[in-house]
Amino acid sequence: MKSDIQIAREAKKRPIAEIAAKLGMGPDDFLPFGHDKAKLTHEFVGGLADRPQGRLVLVTAINPTPAGEGKTTTTVGLGDALNRIGKRTTICIREASLGPNFGMKGGAAGGGMAQIVPMEDMNLHFTGDFHAVTSAHNLLSAMIDNHIYWGNQLRIDPRRITWRRVMDMNDRVLRQTVVALGGPANGYPRETGFDITVASEVMAILCLASDIHDLEERLGRIVIGYTIEREPITARDIGANGAMTVLLRDALQPNLVQTLENNPAMVHGGPFANIAHGCNSVMATRSALALSEYVVTEAGFGADLGAEKFLDIKCRLAGLSPDAVVLVATVRALKMNGGVARADLGAEDVAALTRGCANLGRHIENLHAFGLPVVVAINHFTSDTDAEVAALKDYCAKHHVKAVLCRHWAEGGAGAEELARAVVTNAESGTAQFAPIYPDEMTLWDKIQTVCRRIYRADHVEAPPSVRAQLETWQRAGFGHLPVCMAKTQYSFSSDPTALGAPTGFTIPLREVRLSAGAGFVVAICGEIMTMPGLPREPAALRIGLDADGRVEGLF
Ligand code: ADP
Ligand code: MG
Repeated sequence: MKSDIQIAREAKKRPIAEIAAKLGMGPDDFLPFGHDKAKLTHEFVGGLADRPQGRLVLVTAINPTPAGEGKTTTTVGLGDALNRIGKRTTICIREASLGPNFGMKGGAAGGGMAQIVPMEDMNLHFTGDFHAVTSAHNLLSAMIDNHIYWGNQLRIDPRRITWRRVMDMNDRVLRQTVVALGGPANGYPRETGFDITVASEVMAILCLASDIHDLEERLGRIVIGYTIEREPITARDIGANGAMTVLLRDALQPNLVQTLENNPAMVHGGPFANIAHGCNSVMATRSALALSEYVVTEAGFGADLGAEKFLDIKCRLAGLSPDAVVLVATVRALKMNGGVARADLGAEDVAALTRGCANLGRHIENLHAFGLPVVVAINHFTSDTDAEVAALKDYCAKHHVKAVLCRHWAEGGAGAEELARAVVTNAESGTAQFAPIYPDEMTLWDKIQTVCRRIYRADHVEAPPSVRAQLETWQRAGFGHLPVCMAKTQYSFSSDPTALGAPTGFTIPLREVRLSAGAGFVVAICGEIMTMPGLPREPAALRIGLDADGRVEGLF
């Protein structure tokens, strides 16, 4: 099998106007970015509001192994397969963060014969959206320090500024910094730090905004810190929201690209899946629903985090209602959940696989609790044995859920047609009765407890009094109706990344809470969360360069 980048280079791409035409778009409806990328114009997107909506399919997964289990690959393969069986389908996924590509190998455009192209662009600068987010974020940072420099009329407490700076690079030395050193001309020294761009609240806002006016409103609501009297200060108080909106106007327009099989894919926005909600933009998803019969989309991490946040945050805030869910499982991840070491995943082990199925079973129960029909997609790896696949299908049959073996990674859309038919059966059965797991009116503390108890199956949530007091303060200040955005390890239902399978009898430690008032959620941090990654000892950048023909080498 060829490498992902080799396959992507050999793609027979169609001009982007042809892909747009598949969605019924004329030449004035999109802005071409070269030959193979385009943005949908604000005018066109604004005119889609009253169109009938297609069906929404969420692709999520069991708890992954560190390699990733193929959610994006399955999203792309399923989208191509639905198109093959005659359902006009658009794929919606996130854009990739540039920085991490120079650390560890691994793209964000799918894999094998199920990829989105141009994958090199997608993993580098693409259409410049992330650079715009970086600029808008840092404009606000600069205006905060400038406000203090010129007299601090708002009485901002420099020790209580929560708004940091961002850049799209893995650079651990910037996690904690002191700024304004060098004397009075440079301002008032204070401690701050950098996060990676995808961790910016501006990114989450870009992905939840319904249009440019809503974007500006949300930017205005960002809380940047507190006054000496401990009153919150917003980006609107600083006067930054108008200029930030100008910087983000173009970036808010959804990007259109294509799959290897020339089907439309919207790749737009990329919020972190831990301290943010981890899904592509609402504007892209809504546009795709107005332009296609089916939309297949992905949520980051396993279903305990990704699907829960997709459903309780994105769908709740955007008024979306999914029709079906695909739960991706791999034999190797189930064996790992059943206790097999990472190095031994290549060898057949039906007993371990069967033990690991407890993890799958819990995710199925959780998705049913949201009122959604589920089909399990077994993403086939060449190392899987017939006995292992049979045992997995057996488990699903016993739990009354259809499981389909899929070969889209090796065969493209043709390898996922059976999955596509199963999804259509579920989506068109009308059985979906989606409801979020908690109501808006529930208190913030009870929302956190509900997710921990009902989704993770924790016995208790433990929080220091300061965290409980902070939640109560926000509750009183009018933020109590917001959903909660859980940040915890993706490897386990618990907060312990080594507790695989379906752990019970544990407590979730709630260490810290953060308010994302512009995005519209309260972040609940359960464990160590990194918002500025570092590079590994041998970063991928050491191998990345241009070959003799000027093509990128070593990126994948
Ligand atoms: P996720 O979205 O769950 O993180 P991806 O779809 O990005 O996972 O896949 C992660 C990596 O695994 C990619 O490099 C992809 O090429 C590879 N991969 C996915 N499915 C298969 C498969 N069936 N066989 C071999 N490699 C696969
Ligand atoms: Mg992915």
